Amino acid sequence: MTYSLLLLAALAGPPSDTHRSDPSLALPSLALPSLAPPSLAPPSLIPRSAQTVQAGWEWVKLAKDRQEQLERIGERKLTHSYCTDTLDAQELLRVAPDLPYELRDWVRSRHAARPEMVALMVRAMGYLKRWQPGSTITIGDIAQRGCGQIRYGTIVHFDDDAETFLRRSRLEFGLPTVTELLDSWAFSDEFPRMDDLDTPIRVEQTASGRTRDGQLRVETRRFSLGAHVTEHRLSLLLDRTSKRFKDKSPGAVQWDLVDHDDGRGAVRLKRGTYFDSRTGVWAELILRPGVKGAFPMRPDRIARIREAYVDLGKPTSLKFEERWDFDFDGEAGVHVTRWFLEYEAHHASHLSGLDADLSYVTFNNYGHFSPLLALMDRVGSWRWMKALEKAARDLAIPLDALFVDPTVLRALKTVEEARKAEPAWKKLKRSPGHDSHVHVRIRPAPRFHGKTLTEIIEMARL
Ligand SMILES: [Zn+2]
Repeated sequence: MTYSLLLLAALAGPPSDTHRSDPSLALPSLALPSLAPPSLAPPSLIPRSAQTVQAGWEWVKLAKDRQEQLERIGERKLTHSYCTDTLDAQELLRVAPDLPYELRDWVRSRHAARPEMVALMVRAMGYLKRWQPGSTITIGDIAQRGCGQIRYGTIVHFDDDAETFLRRSRLEFGLPTVTELLDSWAFSDEFPRMDDLDTPIRVEQTASGRTRDGQLRVETRRFSLGAHVTEHRLSLLLDRTSKRFKDKSPGAVQWDLVDHDDGRGAVRLKRGTYFDSRTGVWAELILRPGVKGAFPMRPDRIARIREAYVDLGKPTSLKFEERWDFDFDGEAGVHVTRWFLEYEAHHASHLSGLDADLSYVTFNNYGHFSPLLALMDRVGSWRWMKALEKAARDLAIPLDALFVDPTVLRALKTVEEARKAEPAWKKLKRSPGHDSHVHVRIRPAPRFHGKTLTEIIEMARL
């Protein structure tokens, strides 16, 4: 398979014509006229250990060629796997309210942690309470539910009520999808991230898989509305899309068919994907029902265009996605709407709950996760680094590193009580970008495996 097809398979399940090999996906065969309604069943997911998922993704990252990366993802079925042995650090706040942790947000559900990470957090907070009473720590991203690569702009959660989701959804370009247009005020909690309160946010939820016990893996992407699409912008878009899809270099363009329900019933649409492995530019072109050919490229032939980038270090992660929806309404012509994917951090690590982003200590607990060094309490933050290091040593959890920004490292060096002989210095590693939080990385400590959250708290509490 070529890169664009492999990427499609990794992102959104296999294209229509490969569904046939899987009996659980009863989609009509390509060879027959497609009269039967397309199936709403998302692909089945394989339960795996967090360790297996992490090792798989690390093996993918070793490949220095994009094509090979995707082949490895396919070979290990990584995008169709989910881990079953992580705990939810969000639960820690509920079960142990005396530990002054807070969550950065309740939206992203990136709080899947390995049991040993939870143990470390419990013990370290015990020390912080002693050494720095009154200070709280905010938990940022750990790992996403089900483990695996955290992609740009994508929030993953698992939905217990699959039936309700599927009833509300409709097959959008191959996958069951619920799309809603919400007033931006619905996101005022996330201010200043969603800071434009005048235009709606498009929330797209896609069921990308189903677990053995019937939960749906739902991926949420949020889009903000772009400016009005002028004639000029539209002709630029059509020009570059036309050029891309006429590219004759091997593997650059792939065509397949995708099942879609536009509200008026099931149709099968022609979908093209383009990828330039030199620049990382990716594009997708979907034609309107019944349209056989893309050229000459005209608005009335097109259902949707998507454009994005794929970084070498982040396979399957579409960066800066923009999409252009073409609504054809006969006499009035074609109306084009442009959407931008809302930013959500991508992580090359954070694969399975052995990596955690935790805030520093700040004055009056104000401004956690702010990159402003002036807000950081140097003495308190030093004690926090010490607490993390000591907790790991107490519990025999292999602590790989506490990654901090060089400016933070310099600030910690000015703390009087941070003497040279302190063992925490050996764990503090310079890592540009970690100015708003410390990135804690541990290695597995098997004696915590298989324990419940309550048992972990018991084992780790000071
Ligand atoms: Zn991190």
